[in-house]
Amino acid sequence: MTIQPRPGILEVAPYVGGESKAAGMNRVIRLASNENPLGPSPQAVAAYEAEKTELHRYPDGGASELRKAIAEAESLAAENIVCGAGSDELIGLLVRAYAGQGDEVLYSEHGFLMYPISAKTAGATAVAAPEANLTADVDGLLARVTERTRLLFLANPNNPTGSYLSESALRRLHQGLPGHVLLVVDAAYAEYVTAPDYPQVAALVEANDNVVMLRTFSKIHGLAALRLGWAYCPPAVVDVLNRVRGPFNVSQAAQAAGAAAVRDRDHVVRSVTHNARWLDWFSAAMAKAGIEALPSAGNFVLLRFAGGSAQAEAVLAAAKRQGILLRGMASYGLPDCLRVTIGSEEDMRATAEALTEAVQ
Ligand SMILES: *Cc1c(COP(=O)(O)O)cnc(C)c1O
Repeated sequence: MTIQPRPGILEVAPYVGGESKAAGMNRVIRLASNENPLGPSPQAVAAYEAEKTELHRYPDGGASELRKAIAEAESLAAENIVCGAGSDELIGLLVRAYAGQGDEVLYSEHGFLMYPISAKTAGATAVAAPEANLTADVDGLLARVTERTRLLFLANPNNPTGSYLSESALRRLHQGLPGHVLLVVDAAYAEYVTAPDYPQVAALVEANDNVVMLRTFSKIHGLAALRLGWAYCPPAVVDVLNRVRGPFNVSQAAQAAGAAAVRDRDHVVRSVTHNARWLDWFSAAMAKAGIEALPSAGNFVLLRFAGGSAQAEAVLAAAKRQGILLRGMASYGLPDCLRVTIGSEEDMRATAEALTEAVQ
């Protein structure tokens, strides 16, 4: 007999993050992880630094100041918020709390990889519903709901495709779900969305007992290193998450920085404005180079190469030789695509030039 993990664990392909280093290069352009090129709010950095004299103290396990700050900024109820060490932790906790062996966790074909990874880790079965036009398909998802389905994860907007479901599509998805399925809307990129038909996810949470919204400080707030996310939940889900999470799952420095970040609306607006401008500019530059850039509601854009996976790989390698790190998409079932984060003006100009040259 040898020691063995629980069933499912060894089926998990470990999550591989975006590359951050290129051999022999001292300056790299990092466009592989959807990080904010403006960095965090200076006020968040100051709040983080102010915690350094208190490192011997345990954090506030209930994250009450942070929840209050989020609730004020977003006009939500603080008691319905649960904070986590990144939304990744909350995805894992939701799966562990609601699904186990014999249960199914449903997600959309090109959805965020942490959903199937977390499902398999919990011993549950990950079920992928096919997409239409690289967009979650309401009927396709509903057709795959069974009596064993416990959770449905929908990234809205989705990473890596950049597509999103409108208010009416999301409502139709929710209405088609049986009451035993928890709908988790992962709105990691919500702040970037400018489209008027983007859903009011919080209102859907408040009106139902089977909808959760996930948010993160890693993208718009530029605090990926601190690992901070939050869930907006019906009361019964708040209760469950507070039972399964670690008592001190979010560090005090992260709580302080997060509270300062949500209060700095100017920084959020600056980040959104920068993104909208350079997403448009870069997409137009790609069109000019003959590269298909899919419409994106996030802080990244998916490029699809007419020359298929061979061309995508060649372009990825050519960019890397110039110290430009993009994300290959084979693990998302999109081997003919690359994902490019919207970086600084300088980064986008250099990347547009490098990619244009690579496809000549
Ligand atoms: C980046 C991202 C997250 C954020 O994860 P954190 O653990 O909060 O850093 C969550 N969901 C999606 C779809 C993402 O792209």
